Parts: sequence; C-alpha cells; structure tokens
Amino acid sequence: MTGHNPTSANRRDASGSARTALVTGGSRGIGRAISVELASMGLSVAVNYNSNHEAAEETVAACLDAGAAHAVAIQGNIGEPDACSALVDAAFEGLGEIDILVNNAGRAPRVREDILKATRESFEEVLAVNLTGPYFLTQELARRWLESDNPRSRSVVFISSLSAETASLNRGEYCVSKAGLAMATKLWAVRLAEAGIPVVEIRPGITETDMTAGVKEKYDALIAEGLVPQKRWGQPVDIARLVGSVARGDFAYSTGAVVDCDGGFHISRL
Ligand code: NAP
Repeated sequence: MTGHNPTSANRRDASGSARTALVTGGSRGIGRAISVELASMGLSVAVNYNSNHEAAEETVAACLDAGAAHAVAIQGNIGEPDACSALVDAAFEGLGEIDILVNNAGRAPRVREDILKATRESFEEVLAVNLTGPYFLTQELARRWLESDNPRSRSVVFISSLSAETASLNRGEYCVSKAGLAMATKLWAVRLAEAGIPVVEIRPGITETDMTAGVKEKYDALIAEGLVPQKRWGQPVDIARLVGSVARGDFAYSTGAVVDCDGGFHISRL
C-alpha cells in the first residue's frame, strides 16, 4: 500500500459525502494498485473485473484495509456493448456516486503475430476491450454527470501505454487501440472542459504484472541492456501514485495532459 495522508478534502466532496471511484480492471495488476491507492486516500471504490471474481474480492478487501469507507466488486466485460450502462448503474447502486472514472481495463492479443498475419478477429477483440469499451463507458458516465446538478469534484483517467507511440509489429492491434485512447483523451478533455472535469492520459511503460509475465525474461534482458533509462521494471504503484495525484485535484488546470510513466523509455536517444 502506498502512503499518502488522506486529508478531509480528499475524503469528502463539498456536499460532505465520501468521494468515489470506478476502476475498470481493478481486480489485478495496475488496476488493483490504483484501487488501493485511492482507497488509502479515503475514497470508496467500485472494482470492476471480467472473470477473476476471487482477485476482485481480494482487491475489495485490500481497499477496505487501506481505508476505503466502502468497496464493491462489479463484474462486467468492458468489451461488450451493453456492459457500459450496466456497469455505471451497478457502481451508482453500490457507491451512490462516481466521482473519478479510471479506464484501466485492457488486454493484449491472445497471440502475438506479425501484422502481415494477425487476424481481424484479434483486432476486433482487442479494440473492443481497449478502446470501444472505455470510449463508451466515458460517454455513459459523462452524460449522467452533465445531467446532474450535484456539484462534485470529478475527473477521468485513461490508462494507455507506451504503445500509443511505439510501433510493435507483433501486436499492431494493441498499438492501434492505445493510439486511439490517446485521441479519446483529447476528445473527452475538450468535451468535459467546460464542466470543469479534467481528463488525463497516463502512459505506463514496461510494468510488472500478469500481462507481462510471459515476456519477463525477454524484458529483463532488454532493461539490463538499457532499453529503459531508469533500468528497472515499472511497478503498478508507480502508475497508481499518478492516479492519486489526479484524484487529489493536482491536474485541475491540466486537462488533456499526457503523463509518461515509463522510466524514460519514451525519450529519443542517440
Ligand atoms: P493485467 O495484469 O492483465 O490485468 C488486467 C485487468 O483488466 C484485470 O483486472 C482484468 O480482469 C481486467 N480486464 C481484462 N479484460 C477485461 C474486460 N474485457 N472487461 C473488464 N475487465 C477486464 O493487466 P495490467 O498490466 O494491470 O494492465 C492494466 C492496463 O495497463 C491495461 O490497459 C494495459 O494495456 C495497460 N498497460 C500495461 C502495461 C504493462 O506492461 N503491464 C504497459 C502499458 C499499459 P480479470 O481479473 O477479471 O481478468
């Protein structure tokens, strides 16, 4: 668990009720660390997951240990067309409000294939989860926020990837999905600006989670050779701290910001 001293401003909205967050893909990896970070600031958290109920319940327990007033696990496949409104309904039902949306859930292609061979099926599956889902989930919540006359401090975070900029020929569909999320951030940032809702893109680098477990040795070697200037794997908590910063209001006048969290990977070198 990460340590920030929760302040009353973090914990409560102007109306006095506890602040709340919906974290997609909160059951494991980066999403779990984000959920626990927000919980440690006193927020109540809705932990979305797709199939791993046990992991989601572990995250809920960790959130309660960390200081959340309330935490709930909500199943929902973000890649399915009807999932967005059901997920938002369930989060409102569980927490009463959603102040911070963290679009974190994502998947890699089932098979890494060169773009000359990769299938349309894989492209559509990855795009549905990584781009279409977060785009329409944000739309669903944005509509409700804009219709609401309850003045609260709200924000949206998109967890994209270094793949928004870096071309990997053996997972083109993943790169395209993350490049699309970068534009989604700009679009929603402009759309929600007048309502005073900052939208921020956080771009993780090579981060140690289940998603990268199968390529651990390969990346260990590349990191040792200097691929990442800071010469270490990213940890989920590195990203979680940045989301905590958004939730604290540090990005109040920085809507549309892109924050790299990659140990310097994105810096062109000669
Ligand atoms: P992970 O360890 O594989 O965890 C993925 C999480 O997303 C799980 O909680 C999983 O739920 C959930 N999820 C997957 N598909 C879903 C769906 N269709 N609907 C709802 N939830 C779904 O991944 P991670 O490494 O933490 O990645 C989190 C985010 O960071 C992703 O968007 C990923 O692209 C991005 N990212 C990761 C890295 C990296 O190196 N790890 C680098 C850059 C960006 P279940 O537990 O139910 O399966």
